[in-house]
Amino acid sequence: MSLIPDDVIDQVREAADLVGIIGEHVELKRSGSDYRGSCPFHGGTHRNFAVIPKKGMFYCFVCHEAGDVFTFFMKRLGMDYPTAVREVARRVGITIPERGPSGPDPHEPLYNAVAAAADWFARQLREGPEGDVARQYLGSRGLDLESVLPLGLGYAPTGRAFLDAMKSLGLRDEVLLEAGLLIKREDGTLAPSFRGRLLFPIHDPRARVVGFGGRLLGAGEPKYLNSSETPIFHKGRLLYNLHAAKHAMRKAERAILVEGYFDVLRLSLAGIEEVVAPLGTGLTSDQAQLVRRHASHVILLYDSDEAGLRATFRAADELLRERLRVSVATLPPGEDPDTLVQRRGAAGLEAILKDAVDVFERKLQILERKGFLGTLPGRRRALDRLLPTIRAAADPITQELYMSRAAEAAGVRKDVLEREVASRGGGGRETGPAAAPPASRLPPPELPASAEKTLLLLLLEGEPWKSKVIQAVDAEEFEFMPYREAFEAIADDAVLSLSETSARAYEELRAEGLGDRDPNALYERAVNFIEARRLERQLEQIDQRLPFETPEGQASLIAEKRRVFDELRKRYPRYKIAMRRRGAPGT
Ligand SMILES: [Zn+2]
Repeated sequence: MSLIPDDVIDQVREAADLVGIIGEHVELKRSGSDYRGSCPFHGGTHRNFAVIPKKGMFYCFVCHEAGDVFTFFMKRLGMDYPTAVREVARRVGITIPERGPSGPDPHEPLYNAVAAAADWFARQLREGPEGDVARQYLGSRGLDLESVLPLGLGYAPTGRAFLDAMKSLGLRDEVLLEAGLLIKREDGTLAPSFRGRLLFPIHDPRARVVGFGGRLLGAGEPKYLNSSETPIFHKGRLLYNLHAAKHAMRKAERAILVEGYFDVLRLSLAGIEEVVAPLGTGLTSDQAQLVRRHASHVILLYDSDEAGLRATFRAADELLRERLRVSVATLPPGEDPDTLVQRRGAAGLEAILKDAVDVFERKLQILERKGFLGTLPGRRRALDRLLPTIRAAADPITQELYMSRAAEAAGVRKDVLEREVASRGGGGRETGPAAAPPASRLPPPELPASAEKTLLLLLLEGEPWKSKVIQAVDAEEFEFMPYREAFEAIADDAVLSLSETSARAYEELRAEGLGDRDPNALYERAVNFIEARRLERQLEQIDQRLPFETPEGQASLIAEKRRVFDELRKRYPRYKIAMRRRGAPGT
């Protein structure tokens, strides 16, 4: 049996007439937008078996068999997966290319193990004695069991029952370990990976469960836990709910990107189907590519607080690199998509989606509201924040529009801006330290790199230093990437999401601590240094603009340069000496 390409499988699934095909085996009657009949699996006589064309799936409310058109053939007629795909393809008239002989999928045992686990977890949520915790928790969030069960939710109890259940199904420990379902403790004993958690099944594009996201119920850490990376589960390359959302994404010609599993759940239950979420981390470029395969426009629907905004703009940059059109929807303060739909229903959410604005406009709005565009230094800082988004826009027309808007809003000439964008390779992927803002050309004074470090050490001291530091500097001002990441993570209380390098930097900082150094003095010196660096960038900007100005323009620029320079000397007296070696300003 040869391997069938994913996009062909998608095509076949989309072309299949699910109601017609299942209708050959079950007498179906329309019920709203779904169809109901008696279940062919448990042989019931009541209409407990639902076919849901909008989601491309079937589900029995009694025996809980569920799946798509291929699963139906597999379960009903005992076909294996490729045979089921070929059978449906034959019916819809799609030719499946032969790819020469190849063996069965070597990961088949892992898929089977995860599927068996998903079934077992779902049963615990439905009727397990300990599942009561999860049922009550869902109730407290206003979600009824009947509506979440078809989505495959489950519950992992705290004890060892999972181990015994998997053993009784004949699943070997090695396979369960490789599938990320068990962990090996330091003493060599095995334990279930998920304990005391509500589980969201995560599907691959073929709609097979490949892993889980688990919400802890009760005290402890971490609140959310995903399956570890396995040969079939790569969290950076999967999106929660994509398997169910992709048809709706094509139809609606948009994708809605939210942050959490519950947001997806709530929107999809409210009938807004084109919704996906990354798996508890920032959006990756692989995930942005996945989105682009099904929609050309993305609406970001994240929290409106500082952390949510940071995540919004980071995700937007990834999406812009994939040439997607990106809008940002703004929730009222304190709301998330979950709470909003609960209170105002789908209509309330649609109104907010309708008011979504282009991500660049949203950035400008925020900068304006913070008063950045009112002063010259503010405008420079505003530009520094807009530049990454301009550079990320891989679509040339979008980039052009963004540059015009930025030039207009910040009062700079567009050609100057174009040069600045071009000088760092517009649209390029920014990775590692090379992506940092232009580094100082001055000989490094005594404090430099350690100013960033000092600020992080203060941040780790807790309040009041944490708030002071967050107010004084922006993440973008950290030139050393691991420090920038650490700053964002500490500010967002999300240190668990740190990359390995940054996590190491973070650990070293924690180990070092402030010691007996005076935080007041350290704070002042570090903030002054960062401010000096800002001013220094302004000076460089002025130098770049000078040759292109009219004589009057040059005169006012030189005056501006003197002002900036004076400010700089005040902030950072040592600068004077370094500067004298380079020549006085404006000469
Ligand atoms: Zn049934």
